Amino acid sequence: MRIGQGYDIHRLITGRRLMLGGVEIPCEKGEEAHSDGDVLIHAIIDSILGALSKGDIGSHFPPSDEKYKNADSRMLLYQVMNETGARIINLDTTIIIERPKLREHVDKIVESLSRILDIEPSRISVKAKTKEKCDATGSGEAVEAYAIVLLDNN
Ligand code: MG
Repeated sequence: MRIGQGYDIHRLITGRRLMLGGVEIPCEKGEEAHSDGDVLIHAIIDSILGALSKGDIGSHFPPSDEKYKNADSRMLLYQVMNETGARIINLDTTIIIERPKLREHVDKIVESLSRILDIEPSRISVKAKTKEKCDATGSGEAVEAYAIVLLDNN
């Protein structure tokens, strides 16, 4: 078994969609990014690659590559998971955003991740927090995500 952790942050700007775990969340701002900017999926990809000592999302999907412009992060996660051939024991994540409140969207995000990863929702945890108005994320300028994954790569 192998454990891995991942982290990501994106600036929030107007005129972009807010994508979290493959779900579009109603919000006046969204992630600024080369891809669709799904901060949660990016953290999850880094946790999987980290568990296997296989680099990071930037080395697999370079932002300089036009192929990944507005890329659907769900496809990137699916591809990474497929290539590893590993099985997820469990995935624990935290999203940090000041607003909107994510509680009502959490079940949908878990469902979406469970479809992409082809594992039971009971193996996935999505938690949502604010930064209590501290720093750039706390003032609504950014969204962050953390992920920890346990893989069985036998
Ligand atoms: Mg990212």
